[in-house]
Amino acid sequence: MPRTKKVAASGKFGPRYGFTLRRQYAEVDAKVRQQYQCPTCGAVKVKRVSTAIWECRRCGAKFAGGAYIPVTAGAQPKSKGVA
Ligand SMILES: [Zn+2]
Repeated sequence: MPRTKKVAASGKFGPRYGFTLRRQYAEVDAKVRQQYQCPTCGAVKVKRVSTAIWECRRCGAKFAGGAYIPVTAGAQPKSKGVA
């Protein structure tokens, strides 16, 4: 049965792995390509220059952040700790 053979050959984790990887890459890619707001001047001109390094195209501010988004979750400066 060639059918069974084919599935066994490529069905270890190939398709599933590829799918997950592709989906993850698409999500990360979308985040990385986005422009974010600069914490210094407020312009939405922050782009990733390398892993965890972000730069504002307007004022030139450079800062370290998350690998895929400039500000990691939980670092929100707004009033949240009013418990
Ligand atoms: Zn800026």
